[in-house]
Amino acid sequence: MGIILPFLHEIVISFSLRLAQPVANKYYSAPFRKIMMSLRLLCLWLLAFLPLSACETSGKKETSSQNSTADATISQSDTVIPQPDRIAAKATTLPLADLDSIRQLSDTAFVELLRLDTSFVLTMKYATADNFLKEKVYDCDKCLLRKQPALGLLKAQQLLKEKGYGLQLFDCYRPLDVQKKMWEIMPDDRYVGNPYGNGSVHNKGAAVDLTLTDSTGHELDMGTHFDFFGREAHHAYTHLPAEVLERRKLLKNIMQEAGFEPITSEWWHYSYRHQNYPTANFKPACE
Ligand SMILES: [Zn+2]
Repeated sequence: MGIILPFLHEIVISFSLRLAQPVANKYYSAPFRKIMMSLRLLCLWLLAFLPLSACETSGKKETSSQNSTADATISQSDTVIPQPDRIAAKATTLPLADLDSIRQLSDTAFVELLRLDTSFVLTMKYATADNFLKEKVYDCDKCLLRKQPALGLLKAQQLLKEKGYGLQLFDCYRPLDVQKKMWEIMPDDRYVGNPYGNGSVHNKGAAVDLTLTDSTGHELDMGTHFDFFGREAHHAYTHLPAEVLERRKLLKNIMQEAGFEPITSEWWHYSYRHQNYPTANFKPACE
């Protein structure tokens, strides 16, 4: 239509100029002059209408092009602009999940702990080389747990906060392949669950390795470091300063109140009491 309009415009202009001349001629009869005048008015109307129509058409086009530009901006903002926001959120604090919606998840669902409470301190040892494997075996430092253990840990954190403490996590869900790697290095089921037997409760997403922090999130002395494979790490070992023994006792009491049970050989390990979950072997997404 955009190509045809200029031609039509041209035809109408030249036709109307030709008509204008006979109308002025006094030798034509009155009825003929009336017809000529009508035709002239029609042409003048067309002259006025065609450019307007052309403008209207191009106006619509412009609007449509403005709309498509706006659409592009919206879709671009959806994909591009939130990206740095997500990165910033990951670097600082994760958005908190709605607890009611978490409770409605299936029992086997995995929950990212920091989505429940950002005050947990995460020092995922296997996401660094600072562990007994001397190797980084996790791609990122995410703490994933099944729904109930995650909610249990939230309860423990809330109870500890009231007393001026907090929790620092060393390990949570652990894929079975990582368990196999650990077993190659430490084939002792006092310290590493046999992946070819029952595996570890970590593989089910229902165990945690953790310690106490003070109210500002600083790690407290618990007598040995994490993954210390010796009797000093046992709950029954008492040749330790009184405040260390008190902290171990506090951690144990709170964890038991939150639904977890200790094991004899590691003060840092707690398994959720109800742990009828299947073993898992997926790698947590690290977006
Ligand atoms: Zn453990």
